[in-house]
Amino acid sequence: MGIGTKCVQDGYTPGNGEPRQIPIIQSTTFKYATSQDMGKLFDLEASGYFYTRLQNPTNDYVAAKIASLEGGTAAMLTSSGQAANFYAVFNIASCGDHIVASSSIYGGTYNLFAVTMKRMGIDFTFVSPHASEEELEAAFRPNTKAVFGETIANPALVVLDIEKFAKAAHAHGVPLIIDNTFATPVHCRPFEFGADIVTHSTTKYMDGHGAGVGGCIVDSGKFDWTKYPEKFPGLCEPDDSYHGVTYTERFGIEGAFITKATVQLMRDFGSIQSPQNAFLLNLGLESLHVRIKRHAENGLAVARYLKNHEKISWVKYCGLEGDDDYELAQKYLPDGSCGVVSFGVKGGRAAAEEFMQKLKVAAIETHVADARTCCLHPASATHRQMNDEELAAAGVSPDLVRFSCGLEDAEDLIADIEQALK
Ligand SMILES: *Cc1c(COP(=O)(O)O)cnc(C)c1O
Repeated sequence: MGIGTKCVQDGYTPGNGEPRQIPIIQSTTFKYATSQDMGKLFDLEASGYFYTRLQNPTNDYVAAKIASLEGGTAAMLTSSGQAANFYAVFNIASCGDHIVASSSIYGGTYNLFAVTMKRMGIDFTFVSPHASEEELEAAFRPNTKAVFGETIANPALVVLDIEKFAKAAHAHGVPLIIDNTFATPVHCRPFEFGADIVTHSTTKYMDGHGAGVGGCIVDSGKFDWTKYPEKFPGLCEPDDSYHGVTYTERFGIEGAFITKATVQLMRDFGSIQSPQNAFLLNLGLESLHVRIKRHAENGLAVARYLKNHEKISWVKYCGLEGDDDYELAQKYLPDGSCGVVSFGVKGGRAAAEEFMQKLKVAAIETHVADARTCCLHPASATHRQMNDEELAAAGVSPDLVRFSCGLEDAEDLIADIEQALK
């Protein structure tokens, strides 16, 4: 089936006389006849639902759809994209470990890694998304457990050379984790280029309507943890908190990662997505393939308009002819990228802020990637924790305006920008 059919149909197949739309199982708990039945669930000897903090059928239907879209073997929903990235890394790294990450990533993820997870004893080395093989090589340490990057970085819009990063990760026996939020699986499926784990902030294009915060983790099922048992003891050695179950033995390499993240991390940290939000997310997924195409068309139209404007100092859009990442975009995003365009307004920080105030269709929001066009000045919002050096490494200049093209008519977006620039 094509990706569009998967968006509409996958994840949930009703039986005879059952609801056509995914049912919202708004229940914290599930009933059993005997304590023995329940005990088996607690020992992971039988599969089934018992408490929504760990698993809920509505969430599982939606996670199964996203797994199918990415071409993975298993997936889980989380309450936010932040939780997804935290779980994806913490599932295989703990105190004393090290991660190699692209420096061009979402500000919230940078904070999570460089500040909060550092306090947990995990070290991060940030490398340029355009790092050479030698530079990448130099970032690894004996205790490195994963490599992390974003397909299209938010907000720098740099495209990651996924194959190059995957090659480096695999040469060191560790997986490549890709945050695929901006591209969506409709425009790029990182597993096809060697990534091992994919994460999403489903809050963005997947939901697409600014309705619900959420996240997702998908496992390709291809990374063989058992080849490096000393690196990944959490997956390859018995878990005392489950009477000694070894995840790779019991659930195979295609199920171990998500099972551990569900029964251990979700059990202990509890960042579950509400079934109600999972239902809303699925409504978004049903039209994702139609919407992302329009977002990307609008993004390209706005980027082309800005490119030749006398009041604009620079434009960053990987789908724009002549862009630094155009070649990479042709390879990884041949059907289009996304609706987010970054640009600089001549006159720097102050001019950028004044321009944004004058917009009428586009609203100022700490959000991207929904149906309504919105914009943000990252240097004074999402990235305000960073000093100028860190901003530069993240690809965020003080005059950068992040403009997220919605689903409106491109002519109206361009007319709005025109009047504001005037
Ligand atoms: C928004 C975003 C996140 C964080 O997601 P939340 O759902 O806001 O927690 C992570 N990665 C990327 C690329 C994002 O755009």
